[in-house]
Amino acid sequence: MATAVLALQGAFVEHEGRLAELGEKSLELRSAEDLARPFDRLVLPGGESTVQGRLLRREGMLEPLARLVADGMPVLATCAGLILLAARIEDGVEDGRDRSGVRPARHLGTLDVTVVRNAYGRQLGSFHTRGAVAGVGDDVPMTFIRAPYVAEVGPGAEELARVDGRVVAVRQGAQLAVAFHPELDRDLRIHEALLAL
Ligand code: GLN
Repeated sequence: MATAVLALQGAFVEHEGRLAELGEKSLELRSAEDLARPFDRLVLPGGESTVQGRLLRREGMLEPLARLVADGMPVLATCAGLILLAARIEDGVEDGRDRSGVRPARHLGTLDVTVVRNAYGRQLGSFHTRGAVAGVGDDVPMTFIRAPYVAEVGPGAEELARVDGRVVAVRQGAQLAVAFHPELDRDLRIHEALLAL
């Protein structure tokens, strides 16, 4: 079978490249019709969650995707993808405006976490580090780009990694979500973890 990569906006081509390096076929999801093609895993890429959320609704893909994930389809969500999965969303700083405390509508809402978008401020949201990710390994490269973080992990989800005291990776059943961009680094362990879910 294949891994379906949400290809409405953002860094989806890079995920396809990493999957190909692992010998995994991918197909792109751009419309509700694409959901009828056979696939057994899902990638929700980074990008801009507000734009992705709007396009998912316009294409009639939001509910079917939420149902697939809720029914247990394995999913790797990165950065904006993590925001798409989150059950609760809070805004941070956007376009220079402090929107702290604003709670935008959720999207798929299948992951029992609260995420804070653009949580580090514009400049500080982009940096590179390495760290341990539970179940994945030590010294995993982590590239953050205007990243969210997980402010609260609900009882349904489990924390996998922290950077500077903030949760940046979580898992809930077959949902694996990270605030960074594994598709932009050479390390393949996060994508291997998806294939192993
Ligand atoms: N700041 C973006 C958002 O809120 C996420 C950034 C990213 O995916 N690199 O959706």
